[in-house]
Amino acid sequence: MKGHIPPDKIEEVKRRADIVDLVSEYVTLKKGGKNFLGLCPFHKEKTPSFTVNRDKQIFYCFGCGEGGNVLTFLMKMSDMSFPEAVRHLAGKTGVIIPERVLTREEKESFSVRNDVGRVNKMAAAYFSKNLFSQAGKEARDYLRKRGIQDDVIKEFGLGYALDGWRHLRDYFEKAGVSLKLVEQSGLVIPKANGGGSFYDRFRGRLIFPIQDIGDSVIAFGGRIIGSGEPKYLNTSESPVYIKGRNLYGLNRTKEDIRKEGYAILVEGYFDLITLWAYGVRNVIATLGTALTRDHVDLIRRYTSHVAVVFDPDEAGKKALTRSIELFLSGNMHAKGVVLPDGYDPDQYLRTHGKEAFMEIIDKAGSLVDYYIENVIGGVATYEEKRDALKEAVSFIIHIDNTRERDLFIKRVSEKIGLDQELLTKEVNIVLKAAPGKEADASREPEMEIDTVELSIIHIMLEFPSVVPEIAKKNIFDCFMSVNLKSLALKLTDYYAKEGAKGFDASQFIQAIDNEFIKKKLLRMMIDDNPYDEKLIDRVTADAMKQIKRKWYKERCRVLKTKIKKAEENDNQELWARLLEELQTLQKEEKTSL
Ligand SMILES: [Zn+2]
Repeated sequence: MKGHIPPDKIEEVKRRADIVDLVSEYVTLKKGGKNFLGLCPFHKEKTPSFTVNRDKQIFYCFGCGEGGNVLTFLMKMSDMSFPEAVRHLAGKTGVIIPERVLTREEKESFSVRNDVGRVNKMAAAYFSKNLFSQAGKEARDYLRKRGIQDDVIKEFGLGYALDGWRHLRDYFEKAGVSLKLVEQSGLVIPKANGGGSFYDRFRGRLIFPIQDIGDSVIAFGGRIIGSGEPKYLNTSESPVYIKGRNLYGLNRTKEDIRKEGYAILVEGYFDLITLWAYGVRNVIATLGTALTRDHVDLIRRYTSHVAVVFDPDEAGKKALTRSIELFLSGNMHAKGVVLPDGYDPDQYLRTHGKEAFMEIIDKAGSLVDYYIENVIGGVATYEEKRDALKEAVSFIIHIDNTRERDLFIKRVSEKIGLDQELLTKEVNIVLKAAPGKEADASREPEMEIDTVELSIIHIMLEFPSVVPEIAKKNIFDCFMSVNLKSLALKLTDYYAKEGAKGFDASQFIQAIDNEFIKKKLLRMMIDDNPYDEKLIDRVTADAMKQIKRKWYKERCRVLKTKIKKAEENDNQELWARLLEELQTLQKEEKTSL
């Protein structure tokens, strides 16, 4: 169970655990120079680029950029939350973490979740028994007709809800389970006239239990057998089930996704199960809801590559736009797979087989390409172009990563035959109008991270004893990058608090919230330290000089622009004042460098 863990215990766990030992449980590591190398468990590779450093207790993959410390490794590798990872390591290293007493609310919510979980488990077993009974024959025949054999039925725990209003209800009543509780699981619905009576949600339907990543049944989906409406029906949200947070099948397919290096994303239960039955196992399904950020975060724990199989109708195209935004902002690579002649994956596999299906997946182009070609592209008239431009702009503003955004602008403008600068301008206008979009420091363009400024931070991390000396020089005020400046100040505070002894570079890096900077620093730290300790003062002095020079140059540039403006506006007074300011600045530069 989760709970607060005292910080000193977390520290103790980190001190006692060894990253090389821990990683070795999952990855075969070989010593190479100062570091240990192995095949990355987070992406598919043939030559090792996964690097572990024992001195610094960090790992970094030069292939996929994944990196962190002993706790992040465990969280990613074993799909644990932070407290779970700490507790797990505590158990291994013999650190005893005191159990915290839960508050009443926590106990209550915990026991409701437990109870609903128990109800779901009972219901799953009941539905499964029905499917294999005499009454389930029609459902079984239907599954067989769709090529789904008993072993797959059992693997996915498929079941059948008997046709009638009170089968499940009676089952629970006989078992002595409160129907109020069953209602919380979404399996029975209270009658409109009140009176405290309930009826079954699923009647005469094939049942798909929906499991979370830990194999617990959290919800159910029901499909009508043959024709009828609605074709699919799901249990409502419950204390254990929140829509848009789970991916169907992931608990069974996560290892295959990791092994294959990508996931195939489909829409429905049958698509996933048919793929599975045909031996395609790196697959997940969204369960009819649109893709959410939570989904993307969940997928990213296992892979950063997805092949999205979608229906190219109007609704499908709309959903696609949103998916691309999510994949792009999640730094994921997505392929767009459209099956020929309106096939869905289930039908296609049954008609053409696995090989043909896999060939389509392999050959699929990126989702972005699809979008540009088929949604933005294909315009001819002025009106169409105008609409495409509007569509493109509203899409582009959602791309957070500046590099991706620029690339996208370039390609879109080429596609619709539009001036790139004009499109950039349009995008910037909308971005500026949206409050907090551009001004936010976290959106600082990645390209503008100054390498010299970054190297100062790197030096401070490698040789913490120089921190006070550097901080005294007020050099951070001359940093161009807002992010690096605030990071340098944090580092100074951290050193002031911990001193040279308690200073833990890996822990400091772990706490950096800007992913780009974090990964860059991890990479620098795991590369051989390029600085000779004896020369460190000189290297630092040179770096600081460069930073100052750049800062003065930028200040002068800004002043000169202002002077020119004052001149144009014939504002003599301002012009004279600015000119004086410029001269002072130039003098100051000479004496300080
Ligand atoms: Zn990797």
